[in-house]
Amino acid sequence: EWVSFIPYINRVIDRFEISRERGISYVRRFPKQQIYVEIDTDKVTQVLDNIISNAIKYSPNGGKITIKIIMYHEYMEVRISDQGIGIPKASISRIFDRFYRIDKARSRVLGGTGLGLAIAKEMIQAHGGRIWASSIEDKGTTIHFTLPYDRNQEDDFDEI
Ligand code: ATP
Ligand code: MG
Repeated sequence: EWVSFIPYINRVIDRFEISRERGISYVRRFPKQQIYVEIDTDKVTQVLDNIISNAIKYSPNGGKITIKIIMYHEYMEVRISDQGIGIPKASISRIFDRFYRIDKARSRVLGGTGLGLAIAKEMIQAHGGRIWASSIEDKGTTIHFTLPYDRNQEDDFDEI
C-alpha cells in the first residue's frame, strides 16, 4: 500500500519511546519533505521492530538511539544507530545469516534466536532495497537499509 513514510515511522518509534525501556531515548533526524513509498507496512514494521529491539538489547541503560533518513535520487536510506557494545569486524557480514549470533555467552543472557536480521534482509530485498551494518566495537552500531520511493508519486501529491 502507499504510505507517507515519516508519519508511519514516527508511529513505530513512538511505541518504543512510550515504553521507555531502560531509560533509552530516541532522536529522529528526518527530511522536511513528504516521502511516499509503496510498502507492505506489516513487513517493514517487523523489520524496524527487530532492528530497534536489537539496538535496545545491546545498548547501555540510558543510551541514545538515533533514527535518520537520507534521501537519494530514487531511494531513501534509513539509519538506526545505537551507542551499544558494537559488533566485531569479523562478524559484521554474518549477522544477517540465519541463526548467527555473536559470542554465544553474551547473546544467551539477552535471548533471541538469531533470525531477526535474516528475516529483515529477506523483507528489505523483497521491497527492492538493501540492508547492511557498520559498527565500532564498544562505541555502537548502525543498521542501514534502503527503500525505493517514487518521485512521480510525490510530485502528484504536491500538485493537489
Ligand atoms: P532474534 O532477533 O531472533 O530474537 P537476535 O536478536 O539474536 O535474535 P538478530 O536480530 O538476527 O538475532 O541479530 C543477530 C546477532 O547480531 C545478535 O545475536 C547480536 O549478536 C548481533 N547484533 C544485532 N544487532 C546488534 C546491535 N545493534 N549491536 C550489537 N550487536 C548486534
Ligand atoms: Mg534481533
